[in-house]
Amino acid sequence: MSAGTWLLPVFVMAAKVRATPFRHDTPREEPEGPSGRNSTPPRVGGVIPLRGDSPRTEGRYPRTVTRRERLADAATATVEDGKGGTQTITADRLISAVGVVGNVENIGLEQLGVKIERGIVVTDGLGRTNVPGIYAIGDVAGPPMLAHKAEHEGVLCVEATAGRNDVHPLDKGKIPGCTYCHPQIASVGLTEAKAKEQGFEIRVGRFPFLGNGKAIALGEPDGLVKAIFEKNTGQLLGAHMVGAEVTELIQGFVIAMNLETTEEELMHAVFPHPTLSEMMHESVLDAYGRVIHV
Ligand SMILES: Cc1cc2nc3c(=O)[nH]c(=O)nc-3n(C[C@H](O)[C@H](O)[C@H](O)COP(=O)(O)OP(=O)(O)OC[C@H]3O[C@@H](n4cnc5c(N)ncnc54)[C@H](O)[C@@H]3O)c2cc1C
Repeated sequence: MSAGTWLLPVFVMAAKVRATPFRHDTPREEPEGPSGRNSTPPRVGGVIPLRGDSPRTEGRYPRTVTRRERLADAATATVEDGKGGTQTITADRLISAVGVVGNVENIGLEQLGVKIERGIVVTDGLGRTNVPGIYAIGDVAGPPMLAHKAEHEGVLCVEATAGRNDVHPLDKGKIPGCTYCHPQIASVGLTEAKAKEQGFEIRVGRFPFLGNGKAIALGEPDGLVKAIFEKNTGQLLGAHMVGAEVTELIQGFVIAMNLETTEEELMHAVFPHPTLSEMMHESVLDAYGRVIHV
């Protein structure tokens, strides 16, 4: 793809595509672009996500697409502006990334009495349904509808079924989500808004790619790493990134969350230089007023 090519992903409600009460999960990223805070809609490099309302985006992107058109060398999307009118956006490409629903209908689950809510097979976190001997994992067991979540659920389910007594139910709050666009987007845990909604007092740290030597050396100065902590305990609540290779970097925060790491331990960890991973360190330092390279 040439540097000048822009992508325009359009996320519309699954309900618009297929009659279902369940809306597929959409990326749970912060509404924050690589260089701006809380820009609405988020503009990530050349990418403009347009989404319908969804549980994860918390209604923050009420820009439902009402019309699409292919031109000779461009594409347009007409979107609701949220004020009763519409706006037309033109870009080189337009991607329609519509919702996904589990295939749970007409395969005999109703007859067996398997509990299904809003198109999702209800499980106990180890894949057990309400009917003994019937298990569900992956997309049919609900969002996030991601391959790594499905695989992990499969392992947990089999281990529990085999009688292992050290199997812990899946913690959906610690599953990373990655979007393999350009620039990449990655996140884990709570957004700022969600953390506040859940009653947390928070501290937020941000670090721009522009302050990182490796990012500049790679020719990738656009991006942001953001870390969210519980103010009093230092519990890591979430991390959100946009920029080069963030789908690789997010794992650092995933491990930190799973180990219930606090800001103290992250600040004292030594990060190799020059690496993109140093931005994880700096974002944590920024949350506590100790950032170095800004
Ligand atoms: C285009 C696309 C890109 C994606 N990219 C990513 C990504 O980059 N990263 C990521 O983490 N996730 C990605 N996902 C999501 C990921 O593919 C799914 O979350 C994952 O495959 C779910 O695994 P699963 O086992 O639940 O379902 P599936 O992988 O869909 O497997 C279900 C299987 O059941 C079979 N089946 C269905 N109905 C029946 C029936 N009645 N009888 C017998 N067999 C049946 C299907 O044929 C299929 O083989 C993507 C999904 C799509 C569609």
